[in-house]
Parts: sequence; structure tokens; C-alpha cells
Amino acid sequence: MTKYQAIKGMSDILPEESQVWQRLEEVTRSFFRTNGYEEIRTPVVEVTELFQRSIGEASDIVHKEMYTFKDRGDRSMTLRPEMTASVARAVIENNLIREAKPLYLYYIGPMFRAERPQAGRRRQFHQVGIESINTPSPFSDAEAIALLARYLRVVGVESFKIKINTLGCPKDQAEYRETLKAYFSKESAALCEDCKYRLEKNVLRIFDCKNESCHKIIDNAPPMKPCGTCGSDFDTIRELLKSVFNVFYEVDRKLVRGLDYYTGCVFEATSAGLGAKDAVAAGGRYDNLIKEMGGADLPATGFAIGIERLLESMKADSSPLLVEPRQKRIYVALAGVGLDAIKRFSKVLGGFNSALCLLREKGHEVFFHFRPDVSLKSQLREADKWGARAVIILGEDELTKGVMTLKDFESKEEKKDIAISELVSIFRWD
Ligand code: ATP
Ligand code: MG
Repeated sequence: MTKYQAIKGMSDILPEESQVWQRLEEVTRSFFRTNGYEEIRTPVVEVTELFQRSIGEASDIVHKEMYTFKDRGDRSMTLRPEMTASVARAVIENNLIREAKPLYLYYIGPMFRAERPQAGRRRQFHQVGIESINTPSPFSDAEAIALLARYLRVVGVESFKIKINTLGCPKDQAEYRETLKAYFSKESAALCEDCKYRLEKNVLRIFDCKNESCHKIIDNAPPMKPCGTCGSDFDTIRELLKSVFNVFYEVDRKLVRGLDYYTGCVFEATSAGLGAKDAVAAGGRYDNLIKEMGGADLPATGFAIGIERLLESMKADSSPLLVEPRQKRIYVALAGVGLDAIKRFSKVLGGFNSALCLLREKGHEVFFHFRPDVSLKSQLREADKWGARAVIILGEDELTKGVMTLKDFESKEEKKDIAISELVSIFRWD
């Protein structure tokens, strides 16, 4: 028989890990909700053109990383490699901005890029991110960056750095492209094949190159000079970050995001725990994207955090969120109770079962399964491994008397002869 395997670069999230994911998701949803962001969910598949037009032909994503296929109607479809394009599409299609109000959205979900799998680089990975739309003020850039910094702290990542830069307006970018073309053309013989392609198609992308030899050339490239307005917006953002939001940052004049739609302020968060692939989050302003996609003139900014890399950073910084609280887990061990005993004691067990349901409604996790072949000793070991805080032991003795034995794994106490009727009142853990 063929043994099937998950596709390279796409991983299962197994039960033990998914508990951490769930805790992280809960904290994440509550964080963004309490900061005034509402969730948006869009389909995983979109027409290919949406990404080609928004992210740009010469970006690494469109050039070589998209999962694109023909559907049964011979239309070209793509698994989403990122969310901004999908969110912009949804905002326009559903007319989400009717009045001149801002719109604050967040999302969590899987993204797909056909990259070479390695540490920190998967083919299916997950992102959580925000888009703040119809928010032209530099205050919104500073707010988004500060939100990212605060989020990282809330999930227990301390060792991060924020880098910021401005890409200027389209006019600045056009002038900068000319300057860069002149510079890199002189050096073109020493550039890698990808950068030669970028020089032709979109010279800004050369800054994204991960090749050592290209880096020497990139390091000496002339920096971008933003126009008066873009320069002063950038100064305002820096001042707000420093004085209002209390966020430490570095200005990195070589920070150029790998997608075409960015204008103005772009930023990245890196984490010491990540090694070479150290970017945990990235984002920036995209003032023209929605307009260029046929929507209204809606300036916007946003960021995306890679959840797999976030989890690595959390591990490196020993985030408390990674530790399973032993709080609310109760394991029921039936000791030597077979089906015949269950029938004989059905009334007592009926009352016991109702009490367990009440405990579940109060948020306790209750393990109650019929496993007559497993010894009490093995069950206790299993309960400990599962992270139970308490075990309720029921044997024929207990059932005859209508009582239970309670083992508390935290205080290491064992109490006998507790009336089953007291079950709900006993578990008052916070
Ligand atoms: P990189 O420079 O590492 O390729 P990127 O510029 O392609 O990153 P973005 O498109 O800005 O990344 O995505 C935002 C975040 O999503 C990244 O900072 C990273 O944490 C995460 N991410 C991107 N691609 C992958 C991937 N293939 N596997 C895991 N996480 C990823
Ligand atoms: Mg990439």
C-alpha cells in the first residue's frame, strides 16, 4: 500500500501543537477586537489576475512563488499568497466603505507560496494581519506600527526590532528607479540572474535579494530621497512613534518591501530568535492599490505577521503563552468498572454524568471515556501526561456508597468518600 505523506513544505498541526495555536488565536482575536479591528474572512482561492495586478509581475511572489492552476472551466486560479489583495477586492466588491469612515480589519488564515522549504519558510504558512483602510494620516502609520509592537509584547515576544523606511509617492519612486537603474546597470555583470531580471522588470526588488554577492553592491546603492510631503510625513511618523507611542525603531534606508503596491512608510519587525529568516512581520502603506483595482480613492496601511515564525520567536523568548495552564482539566478514571457494573449503577452514574456536563458548561475540560482494559495506574499516568489538575476515581466501592475519590495533582492531596452530589461545588478553580 502507498503510504501517503503531506505535501513538502505543508505541515500537519498535531493535537499538542494545536493547543498552543488555539491559545495564540484566542489572545490574537481578543487583542485586535479590543483595539477596534473586526475580522474579515475571504476565500483561499482567487482569480490569478488579482494577485498579478496588485502584487506585481516582478515580485518574487508572482514571478516564482504562486500556486496557480486551471479550474474545470479553464480559468486561471491561485491559492492566495497574502491577504491584502483579497481584502482590497472584498472591500470594493461589497462596498464596505460607504461613508467617509475608516475601516479597521484583521484576518487570520493560511497562505500559500511555492518556495524552497527550509527553516522559517513553508509552502503553506499562516498569517495574522490588519488592514486599516481610508486612513490617510501619518498618525495611522504610527498607530499600525505601535499596534504591531504591542501585539508582539502581548504574545510574549520581547526581543524584536522595528525597522522603518519610506518609499515615497509614485513620483519619488519613479525618480528613484531611474537613479537605481543607472547605478545597478553599471554593476550588472556582478549581479545574480534574479537581480538581472529585477533590473529589467522592477529595479526596487533588487533590495530583496538574499544573495551575499549582490548585497555588497546593494550596500553602496544611493538611498531614496523622498519629496517634501513624503519626507515630512515620515518625520511625523518618527516623532509620533517616539513621543506618543513609545516605540523604539531604526530607520533602514534599504528596507524595500517585495510587493509592488507599497507607497510611503514601510516597516518590518525582526526577532533575534529567528536566525537568518529573521522577519516576523512586515507591512506598509498602500495608498493607490484600491483605486487602481477600480475602487474609490482609499489610502490604507497594514501589516502581516507570519504565525510559524511568531511561534519560533515566542519559544526563543520563553513566552508564557506556550505553557499549558493545568487549570481546568479533570480526568475521570473508572477503576475496574465493566459494562455490567455500569448497568447496575446506572442511576448513580446518571447523576454523576449530569454533574460532569455542568462542569463542562463552566469551562472545565473533562475526560470521561469507558476503558475497562486499562489499569488504574496507567490511567493515572495518562491523566498526568494530559495535564489533568485532578482525577476522579470511581470503583465499585465508591459507586456502592455514591461517593468518589479525588486526587488533586497540584496539591498532591487525595480525598476519599466525597459525595457525588458535591461534584460541581468542589471544582471552583479560577
Ligand atoms: P521574506 O523576506 O522572509 O521572504 P516576505 O517579504 O516574502 O518575507 P511578506 O510577504 O511581507 O514576507 O509576509 C509577511 C510575513 O509572513 C513574513 O515576515 C514572514 O513572517 C511570513 N512569511 C512570508 N513567507 C513565508 C513562508 N514561506 N513561510 C513562513 N512564513 C512566511
Ligand atoms: Mg518571501
